[in-house]
Amino acid sequence: MNDALRDLYREVILDHSRRPRNYGAMDAANRQSDGFNPLCGDRLRLFLLVEDGAVRQASFVGDGCAISTASASLLTEATRGLPEEEALELVENFRGMVAGESEPDGESLGKLTVFAGVRDYPTRVKCATLAWHTLRAAIEQSGETVKTE
Ligand code: ZN
Repeated sequence: MNDALRDLYREVILDHSRRPRNYGAMDAANRQSDGFNPLCGDRLRLFLLVEDGAVRQASFVGDGCAISTASASLLTEATRGLPEEEALELVENFRGMVAGESEPDGESLGKLTVFAGVRDYPTRVKCATLAWHTLRAAIEQSGETVKTE
């Protein structure tokens, strides 16, 4: 990855961590799930409004590091309007990318490829994936707190 791209990625992550989008509890939500990453201390609660099998709205509240907050913020933008199955596919694609199992796929991941560099920092992978595991739990309505450990 060249330096310019790396700087751009860092900027997007910083921007979303400082000014998270869709931050706040959602009264209309019909799914919600909690996530906790004990390794870093990241906590979040994700709210979804699912209608006709698609995510209409997503929001979150929480307290975590820059990576986990930015990841949750970008998740709420990326999942809006997605059918549930596609949201679950996105969870897999994102997880595969940050775990270093698959190459960043701009077509399916779009802006989320800014997290591709996380694979070089194994302790940060759980920060980046916390919101996504929590999304899966909310969609599957498992009702358990997601722990990354
Ligand atoms: Zn973290």
